[in-house]
Amino acid sequence: ARTTDALLYLDAVSVSFDGFKALNSLSLVLEPGEMRAIIGPNGAGKTTMMDVITGKTRPDTGTVLLDGVHDLTRLDEAAIAELGIGRKFQKPTVFEMVSVEENIVLALAGPRGVRASLFHRRTPQEARRIEEVLEIVRLGDRRDALAGALSHGQKQWLEIGMLLAQDPTLLLVDEPVAGMTDAETELTADLLRRINVDHTVVVVEHDMSFVRALGVKVSVLHEGSVLAEGSLDQVSAEKRVIEVYLGR
Ligand code: ADP
Repeated sequence: ARTTDALLYLDAVSVSFDGFKALNSLSLVLEPGEMRAIIGPNGAGKTTMMDVITGKTRPDTGTVLLDGVHDLTRLDEAAIAELGIGRKFQKPTVFEMVSVEENIVLALAGPRGVRASLFHRRTPQEARRIEEVLEIVRLGDRRDALAGALSHGQKQWLEIGMLLAQDPTLLLVDEPVAGMTDAETELTADLLRRINVDHTVVVVEHDMSFVRALGVKVSVLHEGSVLAEGSLDQVSAEKRVIEVYLGR
């Protein structure tokens, strides 16, 4: 039976490390198709929340449901990835010694197909997906360049493209604009908005001007639970949010 229509449903999730509550009864609901920004001071629990969603960390208590039916607390990381949850870590990890296009091909093939994928004939469907992804991440004109020759920002976009190649239901993105130029930051906001047309997205981010540019609903984490939710303007007007950010 469906418990909820949410794409992702976290309820009363707690995680302790040596008695310290990194997540303290955290609840968060993501609707299908939305993009959500997660903000909060260092140590608020943002990374731990992402680790729980992807199965890297198992919560002590609480509910984590995908699509109302899949209990993610019972699945390992590989099984959760199979269900269509993709995660982009802060540091780009592209294959520097092969081309941009080949990076997308490798991602399409997944871990089992690395060897075969560079040599086999692409199906029309695969070829189409590669073109779509290159266009979304704006690297069509760099397709033959070695990934190692890209700028930092372009590497981040390529890695997002590699996740998109696997067509995730839910894309988790960790601090995408850290280290980017202003121009790259602006393009990244645009890129995520275009990805959000077909995918549900969660973005953890410190850069408030970027969060403002995204223009999406924000969840503020503090001491392992959600302190406030709403537009960036709404949450940043709340007294308790101001206190947390200014250290009262
Ligand atoms: P954020 O990503 O918001 O900065 P984290 O989720 O990384 O916050 O961390 C939340 C708290 O949990 C921090 O105080 C951190 O030190 C602690 N923590 C996170 N992971 C571990 C771990 N593996 N062992 C012990 N403490 C941890």
